[in-house]
Amino acid sequence: MPDRNPHRPFTPDPEFMSLLPEQWGNPVNGLGESEVRRPDVVWWATDVEKAPFGAAQKWFYTKEVPGPELIKERAKRQEILATPLPEVADNRQDRSPADWTLALERFVAAGDCERVGVTRMQPEWAYQGTDVPFTNVIMLAVQHDYDKLKSAPDQVCGTDVSRQYNRAASVAKQVAGWLRQQGWDAKPVTGPMVGDILLIPPALECGFGELGKHGSIINPEFGSAFRLAAVLTDAPFEPTPKREFGIDDFCSRCRVCEDACPPFAITAEKQLVRGTNKWYVDFDKCIPYFAETSGCAICIAVCPWSRPGVGPNLAVKLARRAERKRAEQVFEGTEQP
Ligand code: SF4
Ligand code: SF4
Repeated sequence: MPDRNPHRPFTPDPEFMSLLPEQWGNPVNGLGESEVRRPDVVWWATDVEKAPFGAAQKWFYTKEVPGPELIKERAKRQEILATPLPEVADNRQDRSPADWTLALERFVAAGDCERVGVTRMQPEWAYQGTDVPFTNVIMLAVQHDYDKLKSAPDQVCGTDVSRQYNRAASVAKQVAGWLRQQGWDAKPVTGPMVGDILLIPPALECGFGELGKHGSIINPEFGSAFRLAAVLTDAPFEPTPKREFGIDDFCSRCRVCEDACPPFAITAEKQLVRGTNKWYVDFDKCIPYFAETSGCAICIAVCPWSRPGVGPNLAVKLARRAERKRAEQVFEGTEQP
């Protein structure tokens, strides 16, 4: 049967390929490694002059002619990043851990972001060579405009990606500023050039969702149509619990993103990456297409969970299925009631 993917066949641009370093991204990412270790930066390096993929990353920036909306969003990003944070106040505000975490909801209520969560910092989330002297990670999620996201890999989608990263950066700076004014040191961590820590593992840990086959998080409410930012702090927040919705199992039966990915970067099986068996996108197949389309995003746009209104119904069905399975196991005596 002919491949109905409109973006195939895809042939990587030889100019881009000539800029790649000798050691490709999958080994740098730790594909096939059985030991847990801190990650290395591959893409989205903060210093493109020194990074092994820096030349390729620079090519990515020049590939696209930005439209007026994208130019505006990029200028806004510089403004947000350049805004100074307040000094850490001398007097520390005291609250119970539960009250600290509850207080974060004000940023959701104000529409600055759509979800907040907290988890304890784990050393293996920090990039090699970075120092993260904080105990807690606050995670923040902002939702895409699905009508724009679904145009991926068009620039309409890319512009919304920039817009949402700006919202995420803005709320991260607000949260960090709020904590500093209350006497607690805090550092915003904003994408896509994150620098300090991986964002997906703490977001999974604080209950934002489960890792999908396409390598992004799936949340029952937003699907994969959201972006992340974080705030590092020692303020004594209560962690929000990790949650499972049956999405991992759903992914093992679905292949929508596999079929939609132009360079066949999404694979049917989980793989061992730095000591964890998980869904993994083949970086070296993805990145030429990602770079040529200034960010692609097809896989998160086509994921059925990303379509507004679909995720909550799917989550209810999966919860019912899990409950039924458990009842059967109890009946068969393979599970305790
Ligand atoms: S498209 Fe299907 S397989 Fe891919 S991440 Fe979404 S649910 Fe999982
Ligand atoms: S972002 Fe990468 S993995 Fe996702 S569809 Fe595009 S090329 Fe494939």
